[in-house]
Amino acid sequence: MRKIAVLDKHTIDKIAAGEVVERPSSVVKELVENSIDAGATAVTVEIADGGKKLIRITDNGGGIEASQVPTAFLSHATSKIEKVEDLENIASLGFRGEALSSIAAVSQVELITKTPSAISGVRYVIEGGVEQSMEEMGAPDGTTFLVRNLFYNTPARSKFLKSDTSEANYIGTMMEQLALSHPEISFKYIQNKQVKLHTSGNYNVKDVIYNVYGRDMAKALLDVSYENDFMKIEGFAGKPEVSRGNRSFENYYVNGRFVKNNIITKAIEDAYKGFVMQHKFPFVSLHIQMTGNDLDVNVHPRKLEVRFARGTEVYDAIYEAVHNALLHRELIPVVPVGK
Ligand code: ADP
Ligand code: MG
Repeated sequence: MRKIAVLDKHTIDKIAAGEVVERPSSVVKELVENSIDAGATAVTVEIADGGKKLIRITDNGGGIEASQVPTAFLSHATSKIEKVEDLENIASLGFRGEALSSIAAVSQVELITKTPSAISGVRYVIEGGVEQSMEEMGAPDGTTFLVRNLFYNTPARSKFLKSDTSEANYIGTMMEQLALSHPEISFKYIQNKQVKLHTSGNYNVKDVIYNVYGRDMAKALLDVSYENDFMKIEGFAGKPEVSRGNRSFENYYVNGRFVKNNIITKAIEDAYKGFVMQHKFPFVSLHIQMTGNDLDVNVHPRKLEVRFARGTEVYDAIYEAVHNALLHRELIPVVPVGK
């Protein structure tokens, strides 16, 4: 048996990276979430070869101050929380301080960033977790990340990636969810030099739905609006006729965060019982807001899951919100009165 010893930093970072960065779409998620947290109003994501060779993300957010750049790449380094109590009330998408260190551990990263108050920007290069260079550079306000050759130094992980097309599809879906969850931000997604998605950032969720799912879907929406003492639910429920054979149309965002949650899924599907056929799943796009102490977002490193303090009440609220939208529809005569 070997002696027990604490692992060195590079090994720790690679292990952590395995949890945070599963595939190219995880890089896109983490970096775009950082752009959102930085107050960006426009975010452009460009990829080549399924994101394996290159992911470029540009935002017009607050940037990182030059002296803070190396710190941002340390593990557990964050500007978003300070102490354990802050976990009770997380207003940002990020809080773990693990994304930049994880991504840098398994790829070649180039960062160009400038804060509005700085005279010039900075360019920083880090590969496999090892700093390569840092220099002053003219740059617009905001931040650009270039992530090259993901998993170049972890062949085991690299082998599990799917084809370029499949990985690009994961990224495309991720971009759609990010755009739907933040209609106040203009997102542009370019895949192999082709613009695949471009939203206006005009705050209108219906416009984003039109952009992502097309005109027929945008025309088949019922308004959802509900509020109780600890939750607010706004969004759209698709008419039963636009349901489909899998759950990929069930979209919901909790405090601006794209998540998957069994309670929410069940409430939505139960609300549609009797409205859609068995084995069909509805279209919904729901923005759910709730107070921080009713919500735990610190469940998994990839932050795709949440837990509720009052799960039964969350179920009831979502069921009622969606069911009301559907019932309301039944009251609207199919043939206009008088004809
Ligand atoms: P977290 O988002 O959990 O704080 P990250 O590792 O994703 O951790 O990022 C570390 C820090 O780097 C952030 O807290 C933030 O201060 C800074 N940062 C990262 N990306 C950006 C960006 N696009 N614009 C401004 N600051 C950023
Ligand atoms: Mg982050």
